[in-house]
Amino acid sequence: MPARPEPLLDELYRELILDHYKNPRHRGSLPAADVTAEGYNPVCGDEVTMQLDFDGDRLADLAIVGRGCSISQASGSMMSELVAGKSIGEIRRLSDEFKQMLTDDGAPVPKDLGDLEALQGVAKFAVRVKCATLAWHTLEDGIQQLERGGGSVAREEA
Ligand code: ZN
Repeated sequence: MPARPEPLLDELYRELILDHYKNPRHRGSLPAADVTAEGYNPVCGDEVTMQLDFDGDRLADLAIVGRGCSISQASGSMMSELVAGKSIGEIRRLSDEFKQMLTDDGAPVPKDLGDLEALQGVAKFAVRVKCATLAWHTLEDGIQQLERGGGSVAREEA
């Protein structure tokens, strides 16, 4: 394996990020959601609001709206495809894997992150890591809110 992605792979990743940015998955609202979680990244001005509908400890469905840079919005879209239908335990494991990929440049890229693999290059740009992790931190806040009984929660990245 080469130390960094080959040019062709870079191009593929860039197209994947733009596709999610222009056509975000799971966009919209869920009127009957258990939890609404909002996240804000003041460094870049990224915003994300997600509604989470749980069935026991499983995330039955989610809906996301947001605005901001392509990294932040593509990450939320990619995340939504990956986590829909998964258990809270599985989501936490994937979240840890994703954050590890972004903070440990050179670590092997996990095989089960789906399109999120396209964001591995973000690890080289510390200031963009918060863009990429905003949706995940917001989802984690939403899960914690569910465990406290549901409702709304907002976070601002420090
Ligand atoms: Zn951003």
